[in-house]
This record gives sequence, structure tokens and C-alpha cells, in this order.
Amino acid sequence: MTPLLAAASHTATNPGPLILLGILAAAGYMLHCVIWPYRACPKCRGAGRFLAPSGRAWRYCNRCSGRGAQLRTGRRIWTHIKNTDRNRRDK
Ligand SMILES: [Zn+2]
Repeated sequence: MTPLLAAASHTATNPGPLILLGILAAAGYMLHCVIWPYRACPKCRGAGRFLAPSGRAWRYCNRCSGRGAQLRTGRRIWTHIKNTDRNRRDK
């Protein structure tokens, strides 16, 4: 086996850097969700309401109930983990 081929097969079978990169990305996303728990509602784009074509009437967004913000999935997971740890400590 030539050294070049050996190096290529070594990198193809070693998933260590990819796993490390995935863990770092997940940790970064969780930190992002702790600092900024809300995102703009994708349906109303953060406005919280929709204007009528006339521009003189409006209604609240059904998905975010007019708040314009939605809780991120990562923040829900973080809150669930936090509550689970708290329950364990109490018992
Ligand atoms: Zn909305």
C-alpha cells in the first residue's frame, strides 16, 4: 500500500474529528439557545400580525398568538434537562 493510499483510507475510517465537530456544534447551539431562547415566528416573520391588503385592518398571527416570537427547540430541550436534574436532586 502506498503512503498516499494509506493516509486516504485512514481519514476515511477515522470519524473522530467529525464527531468532535458535531459535539462542538451541538454545544454552541445549546449556548445560543440559552442566551437567545426566542426566534422570530416564521409565519409572520416576527411581526405578530398580518395586515389586510387595504392596510387599515389586521389580525393576530395564529401560530405565535401575536407575540411574534417562538421558543427554540434547543431551549425546550435545555429546560427539560434542567427540570429533570432538579427533580433528581430533590429525591
Ligand atoms: Zn407569528
